[in-house]
This record gives sequence, C-alpha cells and structure tokens, in this order.
Amino acid sequence: MDMFYKGVGAVLLGGLVACSPTSTPTDTFSPEHFSAEPALQLFETLSSDELQGRQAGGAESADARALIIDRLEALGVSPVGASFEHPFKYGPFRAPETGTAASPDKDGVNVIGMIPGSQADGIGMVISAHYDHLGVQDGEIFNGADDNASGVVGVLAIAEHFSKTTPTHDIYFVFFDAEEDGFGGARNFIVDPPVSLDTIALNLNFDMVSRGDNGILWASGTHHWPDMVPRVNAVAETAPVTIELGYDQGDGREDWTLLSDHAVFFRVGIPHIYFGVEDHPDYHKPTDDFENVDQTWFLKSVETLIMMSEAMDEDLSEIFEMRQGTLED
Ligand SMILES: [Zn+2]
Repeated sequence: MDMFYKGVGAVLLGGLVACSPTSTPTDTFSPEHFSAEPALQLFETLSSDELQGRQAGGAESADARALIIDRLEALGVSPVGASFEHPFKYGPFRAPETGTAASPDKDGVNVIGMIPGSQADGIGMVISAHYDHLGVQDGEIFNGADDNASGVVGVLAIAEHFSKTTPTHDIYFVFFDAEEDGFGGARNFIVDPPVSLDTIALNLNFDMVSRGDNGILWASGTHHWPDMVPRVNAVAETAPVTIELGYDQGDGREDWTLLSDHAVFFRVGIPHIYFGVEDHPDYHKPTDDFENVDQTWFLKSVETLIMMSEAMDEDLSEIFEMRQGTLED
C-alpha cells in the first residue's frame, strides 16, 4: 500500500489516485501544532498488516510498543518510573471497572510517558488512548486503524506539541493495552497507579478519532462535569472540526460513559472527556483500515485534540478544584 499525504505527496497524486480511488482528496490541511507527515506514517504503520491487529499479549503488540516508545524518546518525553513499559497481569472481569480479577492469567503492558509542567504544583492530566486491537480472527486481520491507531497518533501529536511548548501542569501520555479485553490496562492503571491518583485533575481519552464520516467529533462526559461544558465549547468555536457534546446520559443517545478506558477514571471520581466518532460501517471489522480514513479530516481532528489539551492544561488548577469540591460534597 502506498503512503501519501495530500500536501506533501501532491507531486505523486496523479499516479496514486488511479490505483487508490477511495482516497481522492477533497481538500488539504496543514496543522499548526504538529507534524503531519510523521503522524500519518505512524498511523499507517500501526494499522498495517505487519502489526497483525495488535492484540494484547501478542508478539506484534511489542512491535507497536516499540514504535510508540521510539517516538516518545525522539520527542524527549520522560518515562514514569524506571521504564516506559508497565507490565501487568489481567484476567476475566467486567463490572465494576476498577475491580481486580479473580484469576489474572493474561499479560498486558501499558506505555506511560510524561512531560513535567512549568508550574511544578504536582497537578497532572492523563491523556490516553489504547493501542491494542482485536488481532487476527478466522484468518482475517483486524487492523484497527480508527480503533485505535488514530487515538495513539493523537496522543503522540500532543506529546510533540508539549515537547515544544512546555505545559503548565504535568502531562501524562498513557497508551493502554487490552482495552478490547475488558479495559485490562486502564483497570491496572487505577488498581496499581504509577502516579498518585490524588494528583490527577482530568483524563482526556481518545478512542476512534479519525473517521469523520459525518464530520463530527464527539466530546462525551460533560454531562457528569457541567463545569467542563464552557471549556469544551470555547475550544470548539475555533476548532477545525465540528465538536458536539453528548453521548453521556440525558440526551436520548447511547451512553458512552463506560465504553472505553475513561470508564475507570469516571468510577474513581476523576473527571474525563472522551473524544470519539460515532460507529461507522468498518467499526470492529477487518475493514477498519488506514485506506478508509479521510486523512485530511484526521489531521483536523488531531489539531482539535491538541487545542483541547492546551486549553485544559491552562485551566487545570480550576478543574482540579472542581474535582476536589465534588469529593468533599
Ligand atoms: Zn477502541
């Protein structure tokens, strides 16, 4: 398959359009806050057949981690603890999302990096995405491009941004394993936290952020944290994609509150905003491929996520007070 970015690869356009009609560009977009070309390259590699669907515990899962860690190191992001890799055992469990398994017999590895904030007040934000997907089933590779190579690349783009523009508060870049298997990695983060959960003001979780089939990136979670509504809306005003708030109870739609890794933060009272798109025809299918992503929309989506992260970092002391107030009620 051919890697090409519509701006950078414009010279190649004529030749490639003929053999990949699904990726005919409608417009172009040059992000202000991150480098498009390495982001798209990593997106394509993570969702290529070589990675075999990145199933937790598999050999290719380690390959995916190596790609993520290479990028973190290149950006000068620090590990949390002795290593970027945080191995854990997990097992068959469901609700409650923060419980431990009776027989934890499976292996997973979270990847965690951080950039310290200039204010050194110990208040932090967790920006997360799961890097695992469904692996190979009945001989078919589930490449999980939108779900969730897209989110991984989004978190790394934010790391790139904060490596150039120092954040005010501590930013943790967390790549969860085994989300597709009962939130194994996120549960472990809560049960055996690598950093005190008392210092975490907010979780921004990205899961499926590249398929703008209807042009909307949803922000879910503000129903539980109404003080976050004006903050998200302020960014939405100038964001390059359409942001809508919902899918978090009370709006007549499905409730996404417990449907991805942010659920564990919600369960322990840490505010979260989950960013994602609605289910699309390739959701959890072998056709969730890089080729089916509108690359321009994806770049706009990531730019939006960086703008959100920057705004939330600026407001993080107030968001932390909001969390503390809720705990005291
Ligand atoms: Zn997912």
